[in-house]
Amino acid sequence: MTQPIAFKWLNFDRLSDEEIQNLIIPKHSPEENEDDNLYCFICGQAVTKIHYRTSIQGSREHTFANPAGIVFRIGCFRNAFGCAQASDFTDSFTWFPGYSWRYALCADCQTHLGWVYRSSEGSQFYGLILDRLISPREKKEFPGKN
Ligand SMILES: [Zn+2]
Repeated sequence: MTQPIAFKWLNFDRLSDEEIQNLIIPKHSPEENEDDNLYCFICGQAVTKIHYRTSIQGSREHTFANPAGIVFRIGCFRNAFGCAQASDFTDSFTWFPGYSWRYALCADCQTHLGWVYRSSEGSQFYGLILDRLISPREKKEFPGKN
């Protein structure tokens, strides 16, 4: 069995977009190098792009625990075109002061992939659980859809 190079092993915050792409995408064909999508780990739907990473409160990556004690490693993205949003915005237990949140689900299979955050001024970003996103290389071995 081939060991996939998981996105979660990369230094998400420190590396440039190009460095991450070089690490996770084989250089066999030009098309693969242009694919900077990240995909749902359940169904393979494209969710966001590496170059949508954005720094929020000083970092593009944050580790938080929810009130139940479950730890999430999340990456911040300006956009996540493959996510649907669910429930109403709330600021209870928010991890980002000044932002309220609601759930971000895979638009295709409805898996919980993270949260969408909105400030009182209306700016918005996605905090996506890095373990629930897969790279183009991993997706190549994915049994699901293309
Ligand atoms: Zn999905």
